[in-house]
Amino acid sequence: MSDERVHRVLRQHVETERLLGVEVVPVDLEAVAAAEPQDDAQGAAHTARVSRRSAAPVSVSTQNPVRPAIVVRPDLPELVSGNAGASLAVLDEEAVRGCTQCELHAGRSQTVFGTGDSAASLMIVGEGPNADDEQAGEPFAGEAGAFLNKQIAAMGLSRDAVYLTHLVKCRPPSNRMPHADEAAACGGFLARQVEIVSPKVILVMGGHAAKLLLGVTESITRVRGQWHAYAGPAGEIPVMATFHPTYLLRAYTPENRKKVWSDLQAVMGALEAGK
Ligand code: SF4
Repeated sequence: MSDERVHRVLRQHVETERLLGVEVVPVDLEAVAAAEPQDDAQGAAHTARVSRRSAAPVSVSTQNPVRPAIVVRPDLPELVSGNAGASLAVLDEEAVRGCTQCELHAGRSQTVFGTGDSAASLMIVGEGPNADDEQAGEPFAGEAGAFLNKQIAAMGLSRDAVYLTHLVKCRPPSNRMPHADEAAACGGFLARQVEIVSPKVILVMGGHAAKLLLGVTESITRVRGQWHAYAGPAGEIPVMATFHPTYLLRAYTPENRKKVWSDLQAVMGALEAGK
């Protein structure tokens, strides 16, 4: 096992434990190395075993399909054929930045479109930009973003490898939740982003985003932990809902941490199964 791989495995392990509230982890490096396969063949077998352990079948509930309001709007710029990054840039520059479709435009200093890999397997959707996001010009900035980065790392991914965005692209005043009409107006942009990125899994963070994206009325405590479906143009995409990082930072209880980690593990399993 290479030093790089040992480091990666340990780092992921520590990030996971930290996410779950464990601050100190005794690690016997020799024992870890001895427990791992040494040659490529054994390494491949080990990887397969890890994949089988983490891969969970995705049972998607279609009882709560996405609301008809969250669909691609007909007035959006054409896609750039075969170039997801360029298609996203055109959508941002030509449609979102100058948008005045809802009242949120009046208070914004800039729109917050989205960031990350335009071909990501995982798309993470939040509720709306907060002040940190608006200042940075990208979603999930500031303390909540730093915490989300740890969650992403605990899943064995990097922030650059996923695609991050919000349901609405302008910061609601006083960091309130977006209203349904605002989400409906802005949902057309999100629907187009989903169409372009075409992720294997969507992780929606926060009860309000889950309600508006999935068209459900139940609280996040009832919606999280089970698979839902987003009816995209290329077919259904599995959606997992979980607590927003801001909420988890406020209510950092062992019970909530375990619930979120369980949701993230389900996402990891679905991503592994979809490889
Ligand atoms: Fe347009 Fe969305 Fe901003 Fe409303 S929130 S003004 S729909 S970009």
